[in-house]
Amino acid sequence: MLPIFYPAADDETAFSLLCAAAVSTGDREICRTVAMAFRRCYPLIYTLPCRVRRFCELTRGLYGGELEVLHHHALFAYELAGMPDFLRGRLQTQLISELRFRTCAPRLPVLLESGHRYGMRCPECQAASVVAVGRGVSLCHECLPYVSRCPHHHAPLRLSDPCSTFEALCQQEASAASRSNSERFAVRSFATSRASESGRLRGVVSHLLVEKGYVSPDGRLSVNELCQDFAKNFSAGFEDCRLTAIARESDLALRIYRSLHREDRGVHPVLLTLMLWCLDESQGCKTSRTSASRRAISKPASSVPHELSSRKRAEWLKERATHPDESRSDARNRKSALWFWLRRNDRAWLILNQAPRMRPAGGRRQRDIPSWMTKVLKGDCAAPLSGTNLPPPLCSAYQARLHYGLNEGAFRLALKNLSKVGWYDKDSCSKRRLVSHRVEWAMSELNRWRQPVRPDTIARAARLRVETVLVFLYGSAPEARGAGGVKINR
Ligand SMILES: [Zn+2]
Repeated sequence: MLPIFYPAADDETAFSLLCAAAVSTGDREICRTVAMAFRRCYPLIYTLPCRVRRFCELTRGLYGGELEVLHHHALFAYELAGMPDFLRGRLQTQLISELRFRTCAPRLPVLLESGHRYGMRCPECQAASVVAVGRGVSLCHECLPYVSRCPHHHAPLRLSDPCSTFEALCQQEASAASRSNSERFAVRSFATSRASESGRLRGVVSHLLVEKGYVSPDGRLSVNELCQDFAKNFSAGFEDCRLTAIARESDLALRIYRSLHREDRGVHPVLLTLMLWCLDESQGCKTSRTSASRRAISKPASSVPHELSSRKRAEWLKERATHPDESRSDARNRKSALWFWLRRNDRAWLILNQAPRMRPAGGRRQRDIPSWMTKVLKGDCAAPLSGTNLPPPLCSAYQARLHYGLNEGAFRLALKNLSKVGWYDKDSCSKRRLVSHRVEWAMSELNRWRQPVRPDTIARAARLRVETVLVFLYGSAPEARGAGGVKINR
């Protein structure tokens, strides 16, 4: 019998299509890929469960070719908006076929980054998709980061799958002004994702900075005026407390401006959207500007003869081949003249042809978690309930991470700083206690139904491994007892 794939709804994410395929086909590989995507808690560009080539293989190409999937079932155009020219092709290649999880798409700090949004749905869009394709689906515009309202219906997004619990918790009670800001942010984010040539938005922002007078004709920036106008525009905040925290960073406008003038770095589409919004609504930089409040724009790269550039590139590649294990700093120090020449005249190529970054010994710096996150996680203390005739849920750290849809870095940091992360209490949720709940429940169920009470039947009823049950009951290694036939007197 041929596997059944549902037809795709307009704007449905690749993540949603693969989840539906896992249910309808029961295909082992699809189920495995979907389970892995849920475990990661962070879909690629908010919408992809895996690389696009893999997606097309799993779905037999029924949802179109690789580029079609990228453009119609993922937020690819949205991600492209802040990317410089030479990184766009690289991002496309990475999303289609590269195996490394990290891509060159810009990311925000780990605690502020928007996570798993598969479960955030607009009730009205859901009703429409049930009529159109007969099922509820996750749509691309519902997966736009920090968007708390539907850009079409302005209805608040509701939690329909527990994997997005943290996303839902970040939507706080809001004033009329912040609600209005959130509605407008949703519409503007949607516009960024649908810009016909989203790659040109960087240029549009640069042009508006000059047109509104923040950058003078001689290329100097009015830093204070730009930062003040930016802060004023978003002073009311948003429904999503993370977006409020981002928009209130004092030097955010300056950092966006600097990123816009770096050819080797993308600007996060959320930041680009905020800057575009601020400039659109700005009355212009009217205050008198002193030279102290202006800063120079970096000069464009000079053009050099092709032969000279080719010779320098060949020389650099030869050095890399001769010293393959050398770090970036050592290579720069050893061939400093060549490195500076390439950096000045051929920076984009140099970035692609440097040694990979080496993380210094000692790991990353430990950070404190911000107050808004403490408030969000302490406010949700209701442990998950089990369904009828199902064993008690495993309230482990892993299950808690999946429940909240937090990535590993953020969860680990929260656990280090707080004794409780939501309903997960690291002191009371020991493994032995979790196993104890399940084993007791399984034994009472077996007695109730007059079934034999043995380690193997307990394990089956409790959905635990037989070895786990044996170690819990007897405290001994499983091979010393054997798997079945051991009577339990109770
Ligand atoms: Zn809607």
